[in-house]
Amino acid sequence: MNYFINVILPIPLEQSFTYAITQAEAEFLKPGMRVSVPFGKRKIYTGLVESVHQVAPLVYEAKQIHQILDETPLVTAIQLKHWQWIATYYMCTIGEVMRAALPSAFILESETVISRNTDIKINDEDLKDDEFIVYEALHHQSSLKIQDLMAILDKKNVLPIIKRLLEKEVIHVQEEIYEKYKPKLVRYVKLSNAHSSEEALQDLLNNTLTRAPKQRDVVMTLFSISAKTKQPVKVSELISESNTSSAIIKALIDKGVLEEYHIQTDRVQYDGEDDSTSKQLNNYQETALNNIIQSFEKQNITLLHGVTSSGKTELYVKLIETQLSQGNQVLYLLPEIALTTQLVERLQNYFGEKVAVFHSKYSSHERVEVWNNVLHNSSKAQIILGARSSVLLPFQNLGLVIVDEEHESSYKQFDPAPRYHARDTAIVLASLFKAKTLLGSATPSLESYYNAQQGKYGLATLKHRYNNVLMPDIELIDIKDKHKRKRMTGHFSDRLILEMQETLKAGHQVILFQNRRGFSPIVECNTCGHSPQCPNCDVSLTYHQYKNQLRCHYCGYNSAMHKTCEVCKSVELDSKGFGTEQVEQEAKLLFPDHNVARMDLDTTRGKYGYEKIITALEQGEIDILVGTQMLTKGLDFRNVKLVGVMNADNMLNFPDFRAHERSYQLMAQVSGRAGRTKERGKVLIQTYNPFHRILQQVSTNDYEQMYVEQMDDRHTFKYPPIYRMIKITLKHKNYQKVNVGADWYAKSLRTVFKTHVLGPEFPPVARIRNQYLKHILVKIPQKQSLTKTKEAIIKINNSFLSIKDFRAVRVILNVDNY
Ligand code: ADP
Ligand code: ZN
Ligand code: ZN
Repeated sequence: MNYFINVILPIPLEQSFTYAITQAEAEFLKPGMRVSVPFGKRKIYTGLVESVHQVAPLVYEAKQIHQILDETPLVTAIQLKHWQWIATYYMCTIGEVMRAALPSAFILESETVISRNTDIKINDEDLKDDEFIVYEALHHQSSLKIQDLMAILDKKNVLPIIKRLLEKEVIHVQEEIYEKYKPKLVRYVKLSNAHSSEEALQDLLNNTLTRAPKQRDVVMTLFSISAKTKQPVKVSELISESNTSSAIIKALIDKGVLEEYHIQTDRVQYDGEDDSTSKQLNNYQETALNNIIQSFEKQNITLLHGVTSSGKTELYVKLIETQLSQGNQVLYLLPEIALTTQLVERLQNYFGEKVAVFHSKYSSHERVEVWNNVLHNSSKAQIILGARSSVLLPFQNLGLVIVDEEHESSYKQFDPAPRYHARDTAIVLASLFKAKTLLGSATPSLESYYNAQQGKYGLATLKHRYNNVLMPDIELIDIKDKHKRKRMTGHFSDRLILEMQETLKAGHQVILFQNRRGFSPIVECNTCGHSPQCPNCDVSLTYHQYKNQLRCHYCGYNSAMHKTCEVCKSVELDSKGFGTEQVEQEAKLLFPDHNVARMDLDTTRGKYGYEKIITALEQGEIDILVGTQMLTKGLDFRNVKLVGVMNADNMLNFPDFRAHERSYQLMAQVSGRAGRTKERGKVLIQTYNPFHRILQQVSTNDYEQMYVEQMDDRHTFKYPPIYRMIKITLKHKNYQKVNVGADWYAKSLRTVFKTHVLGPEFPPVARIRNQYLKHILVKIPQKQSLTKTKEAIIKINNSFLSIKDFRAVRVILNVDNY
């Protein structure tokens, strides 16, 4: 009798591969265990057993496996089913899904690079001989490939040794990014060393600061707080105790009198108490919760449409409590974990260490830990709070999935494959467990709302903010008119300035939203009209004043800002349009006595960058925060009273069929940051087009009307959710090749799908990183079989790739590309 296994390899192969095993191995091996196998001439991969059987492959002779790596399955049967669904639905290979799902430490392969963990001190005695050889070798060479290890150790099976070294934390396997879960950083101040002696302090108070009484007060207060509490003094505490502003503290820091420092409060290892009991719901919440529970009796999926700050999270908490009492696991999906540290804390206050946080940007080690905790249903992983990729974890008895902010586009993965939508993938996962899914949003996606209207999903609503705070008062400001009457200072209307003054005077905070980073997106020569372009992409370079650079937002190219026009040498260079940098600069000039900060990709890149800004805002050290859409993601700030949208028009005019829906969502969400406690918030939206339907709907908070009108358009123009879509992108560095290839592809598609094929068409930015892109859209009517559609596309795709001329063209299939 011969025995075989089918193995899933983490590479884009259409099929799993068959390997030969012994009878003893056949009795031992189960689907979901890892084996290391040879592939091609020299490569070794870690693969996953998909099935154990006795059918020899027809066209090739099965090779022997190298080694069995697990004693029990690492991947569950349900996962394998789920992955298969993802591969089929999103038109990719199961190997690609496997690669996305497994932390890289689980899929060592011959290309894997290992390096020494320099953070840890190793006792030589703790290492076995072979381990020591590797450890030694890593002293001479900073990194080694697995193939190198085979040579050094003169054996084929080095994976077990690597596994042991990883467990002992002696080595790292290479990761693109090591990013730990970001700790909370609170800002503290102390007297700088130069001033902390008795005499120096006297001198400071009696001489240096006599002409600056406010600063002197602050130093006195600092001194008395430290004397009283004998503890580090928070900046926020100092501000409120000495009744001063953050600008004065900053002045003292700049002078070198005070010194600032941060203290981390770690958030990964939660060692506090889960001492908060969940909140008593108000009547509206009670009703909504009952509606959800009732709808779960009939439906598997329910949409909770609750306005911003209505207390949706508190409902989730109640539902989680019920699940935990039944011994079930809960998956709580968030659009971007880095942006939701506030929520992590809130949940940990209720559920303590039952909450596990998972993110694909964590180090492999942390991900392995969460993986194992979920797999073993450990008490540390009863609630998984995670972004997109956490739908790929080895759940054991999932009872409920919550998809918070379900409308967020970052739930969809664009690159690389699998190009899956985490919301929809989570729904399928839940159904495999016969579990329930709750989608929550203040601004549901049209798809989900449509599904609710069709009766496919249940629907629960919450129309009142918690505490009966009114929805913010939204005012539209016609900046065309303001320009005409000369009522603009830079990009600020007189109304906005006035409201800001009043808000700041009352001690509240302001958020200013501009959906573009940098100083200005286009630089233009006044003499000849030339504007600098990226050499690698077909797009103008954005001017970043802070670094005096021109930068490409698509490929990262940058150069120093030009002094003269590249073409005509004129010195008259002008900038057009404006980004967050410019808003920040103008706000600083308009409000010199207040602290202005900026939150966008550029300011949050560094370590803890995002955390510092959020914490500073929470602590009241920032008065005005300028930012991009990062500001909109579910943040709960107590003291923000005013939100200004600097320019609504560039969002509305974005060339995409979802631009209006997205604009509504963005503006409603950013407005939702205003006035979340007690007093009503105020929102000012500056626009050239105050009569735009979307702006009217945002200002009256009329989601339903927005829905009806947008759905009309979707019907008329055959867009989702009425039609489904598959986007096919062709990519190559040769313009002609892309053109010819795309024409061939579209023509073939038209023979099958007739008028439901759009394109080929170049996107607005038609060349990125020196690769030309061309899109073709296939629209799929509701009655048309999705499976058959995909089969037809795959057939055409295979013929395309078999044509010699087109073989080098990359084809990207993107299902539900919205
Ligand atoms: P949403 O998620 O709908 O935007 P949140 O759940 O963040 O709203 O609630 C908004 C604020 O109101 C939060 O600070 C929350 O703690 C508070 N809150 C909501 N419901 C209650 C309740 N039942 N009791 C006390 N506070 C509540
Ligand atoms: Zn010029
Ligand atoms: Zn570029």
